[in-house]
Amino acid sequence: MGSITLQKVEKWFGELQVIKGVDLEIDDGEFVIFVGPSGCGKSTLLRLISGLEEVSRGRILIDGRDVTAAVPSERQLSMVFQSYALYPHMTVGENMGFGLKTAGHPKSEIAERVADAARILKLEDYLDRKPKQLSGGQRQRVAIGRAITRKPVGFLFDEPLSNLDAALRVEMRFEIAKLHETLGTTIVYVTHDQVEAMTLADKIVVLRDGAIMQVGSPRTLYEKPENLFVAQFIGSPK
Ligand code: ADP
Ligand code: MG
Repeated sequence: MGSITLQKVEKWFGELQVIKGVDLEIDDGEFVIFVGPSGCGKSTLLRLISGLEEVSRGRILIDGRDVTAAVPSERQLSMVFQSYALYPHMTVGENMGFGLKTAGHPKSEIAERVADAARILKLEDYLDRKPKQLSGGQRQRVAIGRAITRKPVGFLFDEPLSNLDAALRVEMRFEIAKLHETLGTTIVYVTHDQVEAMTLADKIVVLRDGAIMQVGSPRTLYEKPENLFVAQFIGSPK
């Protein structure tokens, strides 16, 4: 559960084509990272996968099921944004369980799932606090916790660490790697930070101007970049 397939995906905003015929296979449990310069289409591609944007052409499959026309809630993917978008008037626990509550899950089940997520993210002692009483890293954990409680087949992260200072970014990078190890769930992750990509990814997708330049393991991209753009972007000595 959690494989994602893109077939000839295109996205147009009016006259502007921002995604240009993207074909991509993401395996179940794989940690895949989209990298590329600002404006190359990373967020748009993630939003197409999540269903927040509609594809103009092409198809998206999740576990072999065509979800091209499916709304986000039908895709079983959880998105984590860089702006944490926590509800300030709710506690940490309420923030984490809110999506389940609106989806009508019973209270006992919500409590159980929130407790599980809190344990994974070491937030057990913070469940009754309000977001403003938390550090940036803790807030980001709550946002991730909210995604975990929904038990998705895959997580979509859009530059989740870019609001954090350098030290915290390294710490959270480690946390996210651990999360992936613990849950074994597919992760599709956007960053413009090459180091983040090289340390976290099973597979890196290098994008430029809405098209894929190369797909491969960090090592392959480093040792065998297919073109100068990839070499320069990854920082390999080609
Ligand atoms: P990235 O995340 O790689 O920085 P984006 O996916 O946000 O890039 O944007 C890719 C391109 O699509 C940019 O040129 C951006 O201006 C454009 N774009 C993104 N969203 C919209 C939108 N809703 N309407 C029009 N253009 C958009
Ligand atoms: Mg973006």
